[in-house]
Amino acid sequence: MSNEIQQKIQSLRTQLNQHNHNYYVLNQPNISDFEFDQMMKELIDLEQAHPEFDDTNSPSQRVGSDISNDFAQITHKYPMLSLGNTYNEDEIADFHQRVTKAISDDIEYVCELKYDGTAIGLTYENGTLKHAVTRGDGEKGDDVTANVKTIKSIPLKLQGDFPDNFEIRGEIFIPNKEFSIINELRIENGEAPFANARNSAAGSLKLKKSADVAQRGLDCYLYYMLGETLPSSIHSENLEKARSWGFKIPEHYKICNSLNEVNAFINYWDKERFNLPFEIDGIVIKVNDLNLQNELGFTAKSPRWAISYKFQAEEACTKLVSVDYQVGRTGKITPVANLEPVQLAGTTVKRASLHNADIITQLNLHKDDMVYVEKGGEIIPKITRADENSRHSSAEKISFITHCPECGTELIRPEGEVAHFCPNDKQCPPQIKGKIEHFVSRKALNIDSFGEQIVDLLFEKKLIKDIGDIYSLTYDNLNGLSRSSAEDNNSKIFTFQEKSTQNLLQGIEKSKQIPYANVLFGLGIKHVGATVAKTLSKNFNSIDKLSSSTLDELVCIDDIGPKVAKSVQSYFSDPDNQQLISKLKVAGLQLETEEEIIQEGKFTNLSFVVSGTFTNFSRDELKSIIEKNGGKNLSGVSQKTSYLVAGEKTGPSKLAKADKLKVKIISENEFIDLLEN
Ligand SMILES: [Zn+2]
Repeated sequence: MSNEIQQKIQSLRTQLNQHNHNYYVLNQPNISDFEFDQMMKELIDLEQAHPEFDDTNSPSQRVGSDISNDFAQITHKYPMLSLGNTYNEDEIADFHQRVTKAISDDIEYVCELKYDGTAIGLTYENGTLKHAVTRGDGEKGDDVTANVKTIKSIPLKLQGDFPDNFEIRGEIFIPNKEFSIINELRIENGEAPFANARNSAAGSLKLKKSADVAQRGLDCYLYYMLGETLPSSIHSENLEKARSWGFKIPEHYKICNSLNEVNAFINYWDKERFNLPFEIDGIVIKVNDLNLQNELGFTAKSPRWAISYKFQAEEACTKLVSVDYQVGRTGKITPVANLEPVQLAGTTVKRASLHNADIITQLNLHKDDMVYVEKGGEIIPKITRADENSRHSSAEKISFITHCPECGTELIRPEGEVAHFCPNDKQCPPQIKGKIEHFVSRKALNIDSFGEQIVDLLFEKKLIKDIGDIYSLTYDNLNGLSRSSAEDNNSKIFTFQEKSTQNLLQGIEKSKQIPYANVLFGLGIKHVGATVAKTLSKNFNSIDKLSSSTLDELVCIDDIGPKVAKSVQSYFSDPDNQQLISKLKVAGLQLETEEEIIQEGKFTNLSFVVSGTFTNFSRDELKSIIEKNGGKNLSGVSQKTSYLVAGEKTGPSKLAKADKLKVKIISENEFIDLLEN
């Protein structure tokens, strides 16, 4: 028996460690918070009943970790613990009982919304923001100050009668509107959309470039203050003070004087939360008096004076009708479940995302299954499980397709990828059409009169079979062309009249002035999004230079990894693509740029590799100084490197390589000398 329990504890610890890693390090959870918390609860219960199996490294002993090596670490002055979670009102009553037993019956609580984002601690000295640090392991976290400074709702300088030294904590999140904009852009850029707002907030905060963070539309609510000289000993009064100094303090908190009032607050927001412009996943209940908070103290993991109540993810049960397989422009196959319409969190749901073959296998789906769909902040709801009890014994198991539904080619699953692809990129209709749609899209050639149905029509009439053909279209082959709908009695749904023909031709003509970087993005080279295209165009100022670049040259560019480099190489080594580029050249598109990286400056023609941590600057600041002075940043040391700027903790392999290639290694101070003399 005891052996069995030990094994169970061990298994739970292993699983929880893995889920912690998925959530905090990879930002890719694959179970719901509810399931995670249930597992943790099971572990804690077993550990309490069997202290003989105690382990100081058990996941129950710590609060997860989101430490990544790209940011310097800062030790929290006050440990940054996470709150205990509950899912039912009985446990809130237990909490209330513990508090009243320790203090008195007369307790004032503050109920707050629990924002679905990522926690942050902001330290202010003499009214200016000094540090912004993530939770990390609770003891120390990542210094993300540069990134946090881009969040406009966080004041950099305070106003009024603030203390000289204090910390304020809160939650960084992405409002719903910004979240959908980010995902639209990602899809447009050929990148995978974020699964939910919380992970994208955490991921955004860890981006290497603060400029990119600024594009993410992050926001921040502050909800707790710490320090030796706070204005008040009442939590809510401190919040109001902080509001007056310029902090974004939530409007939605409430002072409650009884358990009934607390429960009423919970019930109100359980329904009302869907009308907020951001996601919340629960309610936080805090004892309002800081002296009483001190008296109650902490457990090893969380404060005794606060607790969080988590809403269960909204769930609905409906029938699985069928599974469709969509083919994207890169040939990627996306399975989508068609459902019998059902109401979920205020909207009608008819489709759910199934992501990939592994998910279908895991869910063990059968035709006509009753399935549970959940909408936990994701744009498209997902199926969490099938009800196996209600399944008909003869129900047919759903298995992932083996051949492309559009062109019949056998699918492949490249090593290291979870998705299947149709490899027939030259003839598979949705891939060809997808590439053309991408080429004319806003961030590429921006031909706005060239919509999806026009692409369909021209492809159907065999007027375009690749993006090069766009530039051979003439008035005569367009005018009068029309498309009819088979479903709607063959009535004509679109006809090229004189005006629409002119519009399209004008749009095509105008696109010949679109800059090289956009054209490069428009080619739809795998892994080359808008940002990468810009970087490539800066480093190789013509398509010919890029086309003849070596793998080494590509990999040495800052922000270009081996995956992108290989993809670029393979694109240009394809004779069909070379032919396509010739067509675009003849058409007169911008395939080079004068704007090269070589600006006049102190560092013109010099290239740098910046590595390690520094005293006076962050790595990004150094890189931006180099760029502003006409220098080039490289990510790896090569023969072309002029200097390796080595800070503390520079990788030994980088140092060894620089040594071997006789690249000059300079310190931070030597770099400043170089800049100033
Ligand atoms: Zn295909």
